Parts: sequence; structure tokens; C-alpha cells
Amino acid sequence: MLFSELGLGPDVLRAIEDKGYTQPTPIQEQAIPWVLQGRDVLGCAQTGTGKTAGFTLPMITMLASGRARARMPRSLILEPTRELAAQVSESFETYGKYHKLSMALLIGGENFSEQVKKLDRGVDVLIATPGRLIDLFERGNIMLNDIKVFVIDEADRMLDMGFIPDIERIVSKLPKTRQTLFFSATMPPEIRRLADAFLSNAQEVTV
Ligand code: AMP
Repeated sequence: MLFSELGLGPDVLRAIEDKGYTQPTPIQEQAIPWVLQGRDVLGCAQTGTGKTAGFTLPMITMLASGRARARMPRSLILEPTRELAAQVSESFETYGKYHKLSMALLIGGENFSEQVKKLDRGVDVLIATPGRLIDLFERGNIMLNDIKVFVIDEADRMLDMGFIPDIERIVSKLPKTRQTLFFSATMPPEIRRLADAFLSNAQEVTV
């Protein structure tokens, strides 16, 4: 299978070519077409399988085809750690290098007022750890009304780190009509229950 057969946009394909990827990984091959179709996806995949590109590539393709009026964030990606959030934000930059997308990396330890300034200028994509996102939301610095695609990455680590109540709170602020992508390396019963609660008619992808 070739990247060009998955339905990705030309500018994303160009960025992948620059990066030197020749073939999609199994998770990319399976997940990308469903994401582009707007389906919810439950992905069982470890780090290292290429799952980041599995969700960022189609998200960039979708974000490119439509601009929000007031530039309210349209995508939200939650990561359990600052390091993972930073990595995903780098992937977004790399794969989105031919797009004029704006994103904010909202993680603890970073300057609060810088993040607020960035949000005020308008962003398309939020990449966040749960704690910092909630802080900013409670202070009225973030609007989540326009989120179309919501990603929960590394859900089992979120569970281990005690983030589930935070995530439930965040989900309660999101529009009911949205696309949700849920990834976890393992699927213990608690994670299944959570996936059932957050996803609707999800396509399951396992590698
Ligand atoms: P991830 O599982 O998303 O953390 O990705 C693991 C590593 O695989 C990253 O360093 C990516 O740059 C790399 N990668 C992702 N997709 C591909 C691909 N299709 N071909 C080669 N390398 C890839």
C-alpha cells in the first residue's frame, strides 16, 4: 500500500516524502482511511508503531479543507505527559509544514501568559496535557465549542496516572457531535468502558 492510496491531501503527501517515509505502517494503513471518513476510531497500538502519524496526517488533511470563522480550535489532542505532547506537536509541525495551521502546546511548566497570548491570536489545534488544559479552560482562556476532532492518546497511561476524572471533565465541555480518536497500548476493562462512553460507532483498529 502507498501513502497516496490512503486519501491524504497533496501537501501532506509532500511532507511525508520530504521526511523519507516510503510506506505507511500497519496502523497508518488501517486508521487513516477511517479517520478521513469522519469515523470514530478505537486504536490499540503501542508507541513506535507510527500511530502519531496515523492520526496527525488525516487531521491535517481535514483541517486544511476548511477554516473556522473566528479561528477557534477545531482539534484537541490530549497526551499524558509533557514529553509526549511535545513530540506530537513536533510531528504536527513536520507533517503540516506546507499548511498554515496554528497550534498551541499546552503543557505544565511552560509560561502561562505566553500560552494565553497564543490562544488569543487564534489556533487551529490544541495539544495538551489534561491538567494544563483544565486550568486554562477554568480561567476562561480556551473555547472548546468548536472542537470537531478529539484525540485521546495513550489512554492506558492516562488511567495509570490518575487522569481519567480530568478527561471526563474535559469531554463534558466538548460538543456532543464530534469525531473521537482513542488510542491505547492495552485495553483493560476500565479502558474499554471509557472508550464505550466516549466513542460512537467506532471502528476498531489493532496492530
Ligand atoms: P510513533 O509510534 O508515532 O511514535 O512513531 C514512531 C517513529 O516512527 C517516529 O520516529 C516516526 O517518525 C516514525 N515513522 C512513522 N511513520 C513512519 C513510516 N510510515 N515510515 C517510516 N517511519 C515512520
